[in-house]
Amino acid sequence: MKSFTYAGSPARILFGSGRSADVSSAVETLGCRRALVLSTPHQKADAEALSDRLGALSIGVFSGAVMHTPVDVTETALKVVRDTDADCVVSLGGGSTTGLGKAIAYRTDLPQVVIPTTYAGSEVTPILGQTEGGRKTTVRNASILPEVVIYDPDLTLGLPVGMSVTSGLNAMAHAIEGLYAQDRNPVSTLMALDGLRAFRDSLPVLVKSPHDPDARAEALYGAWLCGTVLGTVGMALHHKICHTLGGSFDTPHAETHAVMLPHTAAFNAEAAQAELAAAAELFGGSIGGGLWDFAKSIGAPLSLKDFGLAEADLDHAADIAAENPYWNPRPIDRTSIRTLLQKAWEGVRPD
Ligand code: NAD
Repeated sequence: MKSFTYAGSPARILFGSGRSADVSSAVETLGCRRALVLSTPHQKADAEALSDRLGALSIGVFSGAVMHTPVDVTETALKVVRDTDADCVVSLGGGSTTGLGKAIAYRTDLPQVVIPTTYAGSEVTPILGQTEGGRKTTVRNASILPEVVIYDPDLTLGLPVGMSVTSGLNAMAHAIEGLYAQDRNPVSTLMALDGLRAFRDSLPVLVKSPHDPDARAEALYGAWLCGTVLGTVGMALHHKICHTLGGSFDTPHAETHAVMLPHTAAFNAEAAQAELAAAAELFGGSIGGGLWDFAKSIGAPLSLKDFGLAEADLDHAADIAAENPYWNPRPIDRTSIRTLLQKAWEGVRPD
């Protein structure tokens, strides 16, 4: 066995059907009495119901969370925090709402309870991506990691099938990159593999029966595992390309991950053959082709051109993805990145 360093994230995880009923005790355990509930406008009614459930422990709802955590939205929410004297935040939703809670915690050190309703995994990472003046920057800090996460699969029953598929593939991308991460360790590898298995087993069921409680629980369990991998080890080419496409061309977050994953996995297949072997076995033997077949079978988007990205944009995307060298199992060069992007743009099965 090779030597390794393992640092677990010090978060408390409550998992199970109906566990969102524990939100009041989660707030009280943190020593808090004045929770501000956060959501997107779309999930405002659910956030208000959660605020009612918290009763006297809630000082109200801020439902202005949006994708990519714009700093001006954070500042508006911070004013609400100050005006109401909130002493913690309870974030109900996907990565966008979690992002707002993290942005508040980063600036105030307020504790966070997160109740995730997608599979993005942000709730178990100390990473915050935020945008200002059209630029997205990422910070990593211990204050950003949420203290308590309540995974209640009941709250994901209504996640539309298309979002379940793309959000699941987004989570799986954290696991695939975790398997060949330079700083991987035996625990991150165990979590990555079981996370991939959980999604392999649950997503096909959810496509046919979106309300299947066991499949919902399995998928959310996979989200926790894959998110934890993202939070503990470094990512490589796949996340760099998705960051580039989302940041510079405004392609949709989870969908971009879904399209790119088979291609980036295929790109690294040979260089990380040993590290990816068990994952390849989960998906029928060839990691790139196997993931592409899996994605196709569950109705995932397969080509970047469907997001309105012009073929001419691929040159610029390849330039950005190849600049500022970073670690990847297979060395990065602009020509091979451009070829990879072309395949993902056309939506062809990777070799
Ligand atoms: P999202 O949070 O933007 O959600 C998309 C839409 O779906 C929103 O309108 C939301 O309210 C709605 N929604 C969420 N759950 C729902 C449910 N169960 N039923 C019905 N509607 C629901 O999407 P996302 O993919 O979860 O998050 C994407 C954002 O998270 C991006 O900004 C990304 O950068 C960030 N992210 C950050 C990290 C990190 O570690 N910092 C990790 C993953 C994602």
